[in-house]
Order: sequence, then C-alpha cells, then structure tokens
Amino acid sequence: MNICRDSETISTGDGVVEVKGWVQDIRNLGGISFIVLRDRHGTIQITLPKKKIDPELFEKLTTLPRESVVSVVGEVKSSDQTELGLELIPLSFELYSKADVPLPMGVVDKVNVEMDTRLNNRFMDLRKPEIRAIFEIKSMMLELLNEAMANNGFSQVSTPKLVESGAEGGATLFELDYFGKPAYLAQSPQLYKQMLMSTGLDRIYEIGPAFRAERSNTNRHVTEFISFDGEMSWISSQSDIMKMIENIIDRILKGLKEKGKKQLAILGKEISVPPVPYPVLTYSECLRMLEKAGMKLNEGDDLGTEGEKLIGDLMSEKGHELYWIHEYPEVEKPFYIMEKEGTPYSFSFDLDYKGQEISSGGQREHRYDKLVERMKKKGMDTESFGFYLDAFKYGMPPHGGWGIGIERMLVKMLDLQNIREAILFPRDLSRLSP
Ligand code: ATP
Ligand code: MG
Repeated sequence: MNICRDSETISTGDGVVEVKGWVQDIRNLGGISFIVLRDRHGTIQITLPKKKIDPELFEKLTTLPRESVVSVVGEVKSSDQTELGLELIPLSFELYSKADVPLPMGVVDKVNVEMDTRLNNRFMDLRKPEIRAIFEIKSMMLELLNEAMANNGFSQVSTPKLVESGAEGGATLFELDYFGKPAYLAQSPQLYKQMLMSTGLDRIYEIGPAFRAERSNTNRHVTEFISFDGEMSWISSQSDIMKMIENIIDRILKGLKEKGKKQLAILGKEISVPPVPYPVLTYSECLRMLEKAGMKLNEGDDLGTEGEKLIGDLMSEKGHELYWIHEYPEVEKPFYIMEKEGTPYSFSFDLDYKGQEISSGGQREHRYDKLVERMKKKGMDTESFGFYLDAFKYGMPPHGGWGIGIERMLVKMLDLQNIREAILFPRDLSRLSP
C-alpha cells in the first residue's frame, strides 16, 4: 500500500492508496455520493457508487460530520470530472477525530465572516487555503530574510524582552511586576543592538517580538508584532544603511515571487519588484508636496497617517510603491538618532510602502558626550540608562540601523486590509485570546 497525504503524490501513483485529511464536503445524490477530502496540499474526491461499496462503509462515510479527520484507503481511478484528474473508490476508512456540529464557522462557505469571528475561531479560519497561504508566505519571507542577512555578513542575535527601561518612549510601555520591581516588555531591541556595536559584532540582526501598549485601535497597530532589526558599524552615512535595506528587500521580493508562486496564485496576487535604488524624499519636500495637494502642515509636525497616505498616493501616481523619507526634524525622532548639526533635522529615515511606514532607522549618535546631551535635551533620566551609556564610554564605532515591522511589510506586499490578517493570533487593545 502506498501511504501518502499529498494529492500531488497520488496523481503519480495508481492502485491502492491511503489518504488522510479533513472531510470538507459530502454530497449524497442517491445512487452515488461524493466526499471532498482536504489536506494542506489541496483536495481529492472520494467517489462512492452505492452499489459497488460495502453498505456499512457507505453509511459510515457518507454520514460523517463535516471537518472530521479521517484516513481513507481506496483505489485510484482516473476521472475527467475532477480537478486532479482522478478519484478514489474507498475500500476502508478510519475515523481519527469526529467533528462536532454545528461548526463555529464554515471553511468553504462563501459567506463573509466578520474579522472577530474569524480570529475567535482562528483554528478554523486557517483551514482555508487562502488564509494559510498568507502564513506560508510569511514563513518564506523569514527564510529569505535569514538568507539575505547571512549573505551580507550579519550575525543573528537575541536580546532580552524583559527589560528595566524602555527605548521608544514611556507611552507605549507594558509594565509588569518583576519580583517586586517594575519591569517592562521590550518595545524594540534598540539599546541592546547598539551596545553590541561596541563589541566587534558589528553587523547584527534580530527577528523577534516587540511589544507596544498601543491604545489606539487601527488596522496597522497591534500590541505584539515581529520586528526585524538590523544594526551595522563603520558606516559613512545613513545612506549605507538605506542601501543595505534595499538589497535585503529586493532579495525578499524577488525570492517570494519565485518561491511563493503557488501561494500567490491562491491569493490571486502578484508581487511587484520595484527597481533599486528607491526614490528618496526629504521630510521638507514631503511638506511641500502635501501643501501643494491641499494639506498644510507646519515645519516639525508629524506627517501623520493622512500625510503618509497622501504622499503614498502622489508617489503611486509616479509609479513608486517603495520610497524613502529622510532627514526628519530631530524633535520628531528618538534620542539615539544623530542630529544634522546646525539644522533642525536628523540623520533618520523611514521607508514607506504604498502610503504607510514599514521601517524607521538612521545613523545613531555614537559620541558619548553628544548622546548624553541629546538625552538631557529630551528630558530623559540618564542614570537609568547607565548600562547603555557605558557601552559608549570605551570606544564605540559610528553605526546605524533599522527596525522593520514584518507584518506591516507583509500587509503592503499582499495588499491586505488589516495587520491582524498577517498575525496568527493577534494581540490588540481588546484581544488577548486565543
Ligand atoms: P507608527 O508611527 O506607524 O506607529 P512608529 O514610528 O511608532 O510607527 P517605530 O518605533 O519606528 O514605529 O518602529 C519600527 C517599525 O516597527 C515601524 O516602522 C513599523 O513597521 C513597526 N511597528 C511599530 N509599531 C507597531 C505596531 N504597534 N504594530 C505593528 N507594527 C509596528
Ligand atoms: Mg517609525
């Protein structure tokens, strides 16, 4: 007997095979019944001509509740009625797990199910090939990312997620009780990856969770996301980092186009690969573009969601999906960013994808005195950052880096509507389970 779970394997075999999967659908047409059995690769039709099948087997198979998990042994017959070009005539079966009725939500029904219902029943939602495809692509994306980083000479690191001080401002810190002392969930690996720049581990990256107590309910913010962070030393300017990110993203987009063909076809999506280098706008240019389009912002203002979106529309008209916005006002950017001396600007950048920020980065302030000065200017208590500052006292090379939200990137790449679509079990203002 040929054991296989994969409909692709079946098509090359003949004779008797065993298939395992979920009972997706049963149609009883009197003299003949059909069962559609599904596994991760697709579906296969099990055909039950009543006269030719053992009556007990017929009865048991055709009365199974939908979504039950079974193994069916049967004879493969070629068929011009099915997509696979074959069907299975059952000889025996084993019931591994009987599904309860009614189902909490359908798998193949064409009704539109609310996001909340889908997320509450994510295990069912993920049985849909078009939902699973998103996560198969996410997995490939991380695989390609690791390849790209190794290729560029980066070492993968892991930094603590339980921390004593935040790096990205107090407003989005999750506080917890750490044996009687306050502690926080890390908002980013920022402080640690910079400290590593003083060690000789001078090209590092991390793919790990980042936690933000985001109090607003948007389609692009969650409280736990996967951040892809990189940091590199010996840079001459922020454009060295921008080039590196372009190289990495270009590899991912090209790689997915190739590797993810099957999943992209299921999703009905094509990935476009914009030519590198991506266009670069300065923050000030963006203000002028916005003003011309009727949105007046003052120098120093955050571009905001609407501003970002409008810039996205204007860039899209010129055929650009990915573009840089750099030299933000230093007041807008965190303490660790290097100021562009003698100007109100900073050596910082965002990478925007179809009207939304997917990455922030820049050249860091590596000079101890300037860094302390900048922290004081931002009203920070330098003492609680002593462990971080120490790494700058005894020899720190010029460096810079970035953080990319993996799900933000996936959402834009696949034109999804909501970041929750790109997270298996999302966490937000109102969701902590499942
Ligand atoms: P935004 O202004 O869009 O909220 P941010 O500037 O606060 O983002 P950064 O601190 O620059 O975010 O974080 C780096 C990247 O991490 C962002 O560009 C984004 O891709 C991702 N990111 C940040 N916050 C979230 C969040 N709450 N949910 C999902 N991804 C996030
Ligand atoms: Mg940012």
